[in-house]
Amino acid sequence: MIENTKPVLLSVLAHPDDETFGMGGTLALYARRGVAVHLVCATRGEAGDVDEPYLQGYYSIAERREAELRCAAMKLGLAGVHFLEYRDSGMPGTPDNQHPQALIVAPLDEVAAKIAHTIRELRPQVVLTFDPIGGYKHPDHIAIHNATVRAFELAGRGEYQDGLDPYQPEKLYFYVMPKGILRFAVRLMPLLGRDPHHFGRNGDVDLAALIEEGDFPIHAVVDYRPVAEAKDDAALCHASQLGGVSLRRGPMRWAQALMGKKEYFMRAYPLPKNGHREQDLFAGISLVNGAIASSARE
Ligand SMILES: [Zn+2]
Repeated sequence: MIENTKPVLLSVLAHPDDETFGMGGTLALYARRGVAVHLVCATRGEAGDVDEPYLQGYYSIAERREAELRCAAMKLGLAGVHFLEYRDSGMPGTPDNQHPQALIVAPLDEVAAKIAHTIRELRPQVVLTFDPIGGYKHPDHIAIHNATVRAFELAGRGEYQDGLDPYQPEKLYFYVMPKGILRFAVRLMPLLGRDPHHFGRNGDVDLAALIEEGDFPIHAVVDYRPVAEAKDDAALCHASQLGGVSLRRGPMRWAQALMGKKEYFMRAYPLPKNGHREQDLFAGISLVNGAIASSARE
């Protein structure tokens, strides 16, 4: 069996900017620590709102957003970006949902097979994706969550053949928004003249409703202070999605202050045995002669 020469982390997400605004600190931190951090991005964010000035010099929203993603990938120190070549499905009830190339139209098995193939190629020890409600119930986030969970298991199966050797990553994490922080934000927003039922650039995210959704346990907290600037720089790459909003003041700053330069994860595999919280997603995976060897599986 071939050992990786470098630890590998794979993040599987849906749109350009998911990698930065969610778990960007974590990705930058592991890249800084010498891990080969790869990103699978299912779409090019075709359904995102992009103001005309941001399209100057680009043929399409997809081209602009891919350029923004490549800029962010460089700031975060990613080793590679891999597109699944689906189309952004947009928010529920929009015509983008019906597009034949839309991610949510693709069969789950097809999407999972593509991700499993990438897992076998890259051989990551750790895989990250969205939580079961995709953070804020974006249909693409939920589709990618489901496909990644299936792919994680599929990649290690000996009888599943796709021309590559079976490979089982050691750990699977879901990025989660702690409900305590969400509850606090929803209480605070009206005091700041903001409506928690219409959050986000397009006002289509109902934060208050999310409090009632699945409360996912937090098994790992990653403090990304050493690379906080890299995350901010990556966010600036996504100018078309910021709507002229500064990261250093206004709602983005406020959201960041609440999260405290920490990112939170639920460990889906292996399921933790006790209430112990990890601070390192590679805990329990040890380096031997510059290569990773699996150690005490919990
Ligand atoms: Zn997204």
